[in-house]
Amino acid sequence: MGSEIWLESGSLFTTSYTRFIQCHYEFMIADFLIPELNVLNCPPMKTTRETGGFSALSEIRHWFHQHPELSQQESTTSAKVVEILSEIPSLQIHRNIGGHGIVAEFISKSPGPQIMIRGDMDALPIHETGTPDYKSKTDGVMHACGHDGHTTILIALAQKLHEQPVESGSVLLLFQPSEENGHGAQAVLNDEKFIWKSDFVFALHNLPGYERGKVVWRNGSFTASVISVIFKLKGKTSHAGEPENGINPGRAMAEMMLKFLEHHHDVPDSEDFAVITPVYQIMGDHSYGISAGYGEIHLTIRTWTENTLQQLTRSLLEDAKVICAKYDIKLETETLQHFRANENNEEAIEILKSVLTKNSFPNEIRPYPFKWGEDFGLFTQKFKGAMFGVGSGKNHPALHNPDYDFPDEIIPVSTEIFYQLIKQTIREK
Ligand SMILES: [Zn+2]
Ligand SMILES: [Zn+2]
Repeated sequence: MGSEIWLESGSLFTTSYTRFIQCHYEFMIADFLIPELNVLNCPPMKTTRETGGFSALSEIRHWFHQHPELSQQESTTSAKVVEILSEIPSLQIHRNIGGHGIVAEFISKSPGPQIMIRGDMDALPIHETGTPDYKSKTDGVMHACGHDGHTTILIALAQKLHEQPVESGSVLLLFQPSEENGHGAQAVLNDEKFIWKSDFVFALHNLPGYERGKVVWRNGSFTASVISVIFKLKGKTSHAGEPENGINPGRAMAEMMLKFLEHHHDVPDSEDFAVITPVYQIMGDHSYGISAGYGEIHLTIRTWTENTLQQLTRSLLEDAKVICAKYDIKLETETLQHFRANENNEEAIEILKSVLTKNSFPNEIRPYPFKWGEDFGLFTQKFKGAMFGVGSGKNHPALHNPDYDFPDEIIPVSTEIFYQLIKQTIREK
């Protein structure tokens, strides 16, 4: 792939946009074996023609960074994506998918596989402590997970697919809402407007702690299965001097917590890896004359596969039932924020491996999955697909840190990997 592909006349974006891409693209091609791509080596960008009010991909990303929106509230982000995509004539835009989600659809002239690429759009309730020029304009909300970058990568990919269309098959770009609260993927799939059954689905997440631009991948699960569980214990209040006349949940809660933590097995390279994290607990009231009659335990459970998660959750619920029955306590349970493991499909990983080898993309195999949940897992449970990572820089602030800021330098390489994945899938399938 040469940089000239970005310089075709009639580009929908500006000359400076193409210069930006060309610059980084040259870095990517010429210096791909160097660990860090350095944006500072690019000449200054000059706008000669504006599109969507932006002169470069970095400006698009900065706009999203300045206008972060929480899960299920991404209306402005969604409108901006549609505004930019509307300038690309070769795609069909489908709006309001699973909330504020968007599907951009490219259909070629010949039949072939359908490939879906997913990016996420939501931000987090975190106060930004970094000081970029384009700092969040919404106090207490920021793009601390890089979804501003993921959105921009899909916009760049849309432009590339317009300039270099695929010869057969079709491509869907899913701009997914509400990833952070685990609702988005489910909402998209539940939406009757989401009519597609893609042959392959791919997504990436930027990864602080890895060299900038390096692809991180693995066979099997890429991220953990995660679920949050609430145990609600209903007993009976009584005088604090006569707890025997009520049903105080304190002892049952203590027993339950110890029993739950017996399942904790934080050994990442073992198949029965399980992390049980107590996150919140309440009991009784600040009334010292009353023996408590109610309590709650909230915890998260993480495993490497969805199957193990289901088994472990059932075990914990069974433990809780037995203990509550012993103390005559009424138990109610609730599960929420269920993130399915991103269980990478073997065929999808083979396609990714071919792309990495053919294009000499620096890459590294992750020995075990990441402990965080990512709701793209729901797609990999339903379709053949894979999630992989792209390094954000070894010393980059961690995801969800208040000083985190997505590195613009990895937009071109991420775009190119997605594009090559699409081409390779069409070639092979
Ligand atoms: Zn996140
Ligand atoms: Zn994220």
